[in-house]
Amino acid sequence: MEKKKILIVTTGGTIAMKQNSPFGVIPNDEFAEHLRSFPQLNNVAKIDVYEFLNVPSPFMTPQKMLELAKLVDKKIVDYDGVVVTHGTDTLEESAYLLDLVLKTEKPVIFTAAMRSNSELGLDGPRNIVGAVRVACEEQAKGKGVLVVLNDEIDAARDVVKTDAGKINSFLTPSYGLLGIIDPDRVTFYRDLIIREKIHTEKIDSNVDLIKCVSNMDGRFIEASINHGAKAIVLEAFGRGNVPRFIVKDIKKALEHNLIVTVVSRTYTGRVLPEYGYEGGGLSLKKMGVIFGDDLKGPKMRIKLMVLFGKYKTTEAVRNYLQNKN
Ligand code: ASP
Repeated sequence: MEKKKILIVTTGGTIAMKQNSPFGVIPNDEFAEHLRSFPQLNNVAKIDVYEFLNVPSPFMTPQKMLELAKLVDKKIVDYDGVVVTHGTDTLEESAYLLDLVLKTEKPVIFTAAMRSNSELGLDGPRNIVGAVRVACEEQAKGKGVLVVLNDEIDAARDVVKTDAGKINSFLTPSYGLLGIIDPDRVTFYRDLIIREKIHTEKIDSNVDLIKCVSNMDGRFIEASINHGAKAIVLEAFGRGNVPRFIVKDIKKALEHNLIVTVVSRTYTGRVLPEYGYEGGGLSLKKMGVIFGDDLKGPKMRIKLMVLFGKYKTTEAVRNYLQNKN
């Protein structure tokens, strides 16, 4: 069988870094060249490499993520699939943004490494080969953006970096992985049923994420209002409840026509307007706060940025969210 053509788009991250004393682990510019001549990769597919960026992923911005999406949609026309190498720190956000906006239904796989190229037991090479193998799979088509690390396949919508250092950090705590990569074959065990597409040429990154903690006050909500934010994502307690001390500030944000959404700061599960006490989910819903289902805070923020890029008015974004959630 003829080998598939896969494009690897590099953006940086630990996968492209080495220890460089005394500066610590930092990017180097050998990575793309190394990929081009990596035998295990060339055995699997015909590989081309495109260097988009070479940055630690905390340097990523939503604008860069959108640029990356446009690049992938443009380039993938000439390939069977695309693998994006990325830093692990913000991979969830980039992969989810691409999942929302990409037009292609061909496989697009994000991969990364938890260990740099100077560490024992480095995971990068294995993860890239795994990602390319998944990109070659017919079954990987039409599944949205996938994330491959540690021989596991997860959906961009649900995957979470769960551990700061371990190589099995990327998990889908709520629903489990979609598939696995073994030496003999790639196997998909599940499908992601919820697929959301929001095609847009622009985004608006003026959206804030605020985590709720006991006894907090409204200073961050106040700052968002003063900063002219379009929307606030509140990472609330449990089912979507917040300290009563910030209810007046939420009211103020709504009066200023900001969209206020709640998601849960819990590890898994969805928000639900259940509790009627002051700051409880039901009372927030009655005020006009929108519930974000099971999305994690950073992803809800990305989704709002994309929606504010697509729709001209806050009203249109609110309608979209109210009809979906
Ligand atoms: N700090 C690194 C980054 O996100 C971590 C990694 O790549 O794993 O670029």
